Amino acid sequence: MDHPHSILVIDDDEDSRDAMTECMRIQGAADARGASDGADGMLQLLTGFLPCMILLDMRMGGVDGTEFLRRKALDATVCLIPVIVISGTVWPILGAVVASLLKPIDVSELAALITQYCSAAT
Ligand SMILES: [Zn+2]
Repeated sequence: MDHPHSILVIDDDEDSRDAMTECMRIQGAADARGASDGADGMLQLLTGFLPCMILLDMRMGGVDGTEFLRRKALDATVCLIPVIVISGTVWPILGAVVASLLKPIDVSELAALITQYCSAAT
């Protein structure tokens, strides 16, 4: 990776969330944090963690991925942070969503996408 990325992983499945944050650290991320649903994700963004990429599961209990994207788009501070959707179905590339990956993900493909779309890569 070109710079040490900071990544927020939003997934309500604890095992999958932990596996993903660990994977991001192994891939060289400087900071990889997990959020248990969209509400937790927004809370972390609004309390000062501004990652260069968000990995988002769409189907979650509580505030799901769709609602998270809606709330995020309304906030000027965080609306431009790119999102890669990682879910069971393909998601449209719209707004902040830069890519959609199906589970189980290909780690090298994900790493390449993060490098390509990272908000700090200018
Ligand atoms: Zn980055």
